Amino acid sequence: MKELKIVTNSAKETRELAGKFIGEVLAEARTAKDGARLICLWGDLGSGKTTFTQGLAEGLGVKGVVNSPTFLIMKKYLLGGKYAGMNLYHFDCYRIRSAEEVDDLGWREILADGNNLVVVEWPEKITEILPEKRIDMEFETMAPDARRIAIKKRE
Ligand code: ADP
Ligand code: MG
Repeated sequence: MKELKIVTNSAKETRELAGKFIGEVLAEARTAKDGARLICLWGDLGSGKTTFTQGLAEGLGVKGVVNSPTFLIMKKYLLGGKYAGMNLYHFDCYRIRSAEEVDDLGWREILADGNNLVVVEWPEKITEILPEKRIDMEFETMAPDARRIAIKKRE
């Protein structure tokens, strides 16, 4: 398992980190062939999970605003530019009562499709349906504008 630790000092830096990170994730996906890329964002409220997702979406050519889908559980975005034909799925599991609610949204089908990039906030709510093969990112608030972000790639 590879692990990387980074400190960002502003929301902008966190969004930029997402932009850099994505090239690596998707480049690898082309050789992987087996299903969606899953990124789990762990960390407290306000630690930067949605901010990171916004940077990711921007880097992937998503048009329009990416907000926390707290009241929707899931939002799907079509990617643009060189990623056209791919989809970004943003799950926010904060308010769900059981993993079944996510499973019922087509979780398995979404994960089976190699054209999908899936980002999950509050993955602790759905541990029983998280596959082993994923990237875990842990967000920690160090100071008002500083976040420590640990990236762990599980194979
Ligand atoms: P979460 O989705 O984890 O609840 P958000 O991304 O919605 O968190 O909120 C993070 C808040 O912290 C935003 O208001 C953002 O502007 C602020 N912030 C300050 N510094 C940072 C940083 N280094 N990285 C990310 N967000 C930061
Ligand atoms: Mg959020």
